[in-house]
Amino acid sequence: MKAAANTNTVKTITTHYIDGEFIESHGREVIDVISPTDSRVIAHVTLGDEEDARRAIAAAKRAFATYGTSNPEERAEILRRLHKAASVHIDDLTAAMVEEYGGVVRFAGPIVESGINAFLAAEKALHEMEWTRHWDKTIVTLEPVGVAGLITAWNANVLFMCLKVASAVAAGCTVVIKPSEMSSLQARVLVEALHEAKLPNGLLNVVTGLGKTVGAELVRNPDVAKISFTGSVGVGETIMRDGAATMKRVTLELGGKSPTIVLDDANLEEAIPAALAMAFLNSGQACAAGTRLLVPNKRLDAAKRAIADAMCAFPVGDPADPKTAVGPMVSQKQYERVQSYIRKGVEEGAEVLVGGEGHPKRLEEGYFVKPTVFVNVKNDMTIAREEIFGPVLSVIAYDSEDDAIRIANDSNYGLHAAVLGNDLSRARRVASQLRAGRVVINGMTDDPQAPWGGFKFSGVGREYGRYGIEAFLEPRAILEV
Ligand code: NAD
Repeated sequence: MKAAANTNTVKTITTHYIDGEFIESHGREVIDVISPTDSRVIAHVTLGDEEDARRAIAAAKRAFATYGTSNPEERAEILRRLHKAASVHIDDLTAAMVEEYGGVVRFAGPIVESGINAFLAAEKALHEMEWTRHWDKTIVTLEPVGVAGLITAWNANVLFMCLKVASAVAAGCTVVIKPSEMSSLQARVLVEALHEAKLPNGLLNVVTGLGKTVGAELVRNPDVAKISFTGSVGVGETIMRDGAATMKRVTLELGGKSPTIVLDDANLEEAIPAALAMAFLNSGQACAAGTRLLVPNKRLDAAKRAIADAMCAFPVGDPADPKTAVGPMVSQKQYERVQSYIRKGVEEGAEVLVGGEGHPKRLEEGYFVKPTVFVNVKNDMTIAREEIFGPVLSVIAYDSEDDAIRIANDSNYGLHAAVLGNDLSRARRVASQLRAGRVVINGMTDDPQAPWGGFKFSGVGREYGRYGIEAFLEPRAILEV
């Protein structure tokens, strides 16, 4: 699959951002960044090692001595500077996401915007929080937890970096970020932008490297008080276990297998396109993707027809084309993972309604897959239980409202859910019985002040707004006799 590199466009990154400057990597390992769209080598990145991580942690520790005593107004000012610095580069950030990750521009643009807006959302939340409470002879203040290690996934790296930095900085923490090694270019564009905010040295540090080196050092280092992580369940478990030795506070944003319940009064012409948009969100590489579609048995045939009709609104192709809904998978490994689940679905007896194995026609070059919808899926099949992280939707039929709620909740995950129906009070009643951190009614929507995070294996803790800031705080009570 590897095509010859176009040397005119190959970028080279050899530095990390530590103590307010870009410094040469101590780690020597170099990786190629491959374009998912056409398999070209587009960059060489030198990865950091444990020593780079330790340097960054030491810088963050020095900076915390001062920044940890800042007041909310000083932190609000820092957040406004970060917002301003990042806003100038919205197009560069979007372009990097499209190029490095193959994120479709129609998703990448809004996701970058919501990352940048996270700074202002954190500022708003910060002003609304009660930082000091007192009664009788007791005063309770909210104190920053200390140096925070921020570890991100590749599928919306700029959003995760901005969100985590915004919450940590609002709380008064200094940070070391380890972006996904698969997001090195996107991380670099963002760090260069944030450098323009002229923050105090050491407040923000970024070391690109592998999880098993840089990430593991953040998790085990006693000078890091908190890990905020976005990624897979397996790595989340490792972080929880290894972090215990230094009593790390952890926020874990993990995977999902989100249900979308179509109620029997739903208008299918609206509900099915909305459900497909949630399933194929970010080319299916989204933790919140609605990958289990629960349809009333008595409307199954109509739902199948509506799905087949609506698929033309989800073309696969060049992620830079605004008309494209589904871009390539991020890597060859991810391409193969999606193929293996499609095969598994067929082996276990599910029926392919649209899509199937292999590349779509005329898209053999990059890591493109066919958006695939399975019907006749039972909720105990592998494709209904495991996170595929690709554009693969399982349609599951249900008999009654209670049955739909039972199937929706019968999952190890509990990150996101959706309810689609005409009777709003009924949709709300169903939503209130779903075991998920976020439930949306009648389509995908967002609120930067509403908590984001999961029940069960979808994680621990919450991000966004005041909930995200609280995750970086410790209450301290002072009591007088
Ligand atoms: P991943 O777990 O493989 O990697 C995530 C990050 O952890 C990377 O930066 C990686 O280098 C690092 N890492 C790996 N091993 C480590 C270790 N031992 N110690 C410390 N850090 C380590 O996940 P991924 O493939 O990058 O992302 C996909 C997963 O992320 C999916 O499961 C998806 O659902 C999840 N995700 C969740 C959310 C959410 O908000 N809940 C958002 C996006 C993605």
